[in-house]
Amino acid sequence: MNNNCIFCKIIGNEISSVTLYEDDDFKVIMDISPAVKGHAVLIPKKHIANIFEMDEDTASKIFVVAAKVAKAMQEELKCDGLNILQNNGDAAGQTVFHFHIHLIPRYIGDSVRITWAHDSYKAGEAEMIAAAINKRI
Ligand code: 5GP
Ligand code: ZN
Repeated sequence: MNNNCIFCKIIGNEISSVTLYEDDDFKVIMDISPAVKGHAVLIPKKHIANIFEMDEDTASKIFVVAAKVAKAMQEELKCDGLNILQNNGDAAGQTVFHFHIHLIPRYIGDSVRITWAHDSYKAGEAEMIAAAINKRI
């Protein structure tokens, strides 16, 4: 529990939220300011600021929950697709510094925009970057 963290307060029921799903380790709530109706966020109950702090146990369990919720959303909302989005750090657009996964139902022709301009690699550059990162795994 982090006293300054809004998601810790939601998990501790100090701040109300609409719960979609809950188990011992995770809570899924409806986003207060949704990209589209049905937009939910999956939150570990343990305070973990971002992916860089995530332990293997949480990492191994969280996508199981994400997949269950995504399938339930598709069945119930009849969405045509679904984005899973997860921001880490100011630079990546994170605004609540308690790890969370966005589950955003998508519909053909909806007004949600998740996009970026595409960069490119010089010859050999992708291989060099991949190998350098791989050395640290
Ligand atoms: P981020 O920008 O950090 O990836 O996403 C934070 C998300 O949390 C935003 O989509 C925002 O609408 C949502 N959010 C922020 N405060 C609250 C809150 O008090 N309750 C709920 N349900 N969602 C919140
Ligand atoms: Zn927290």
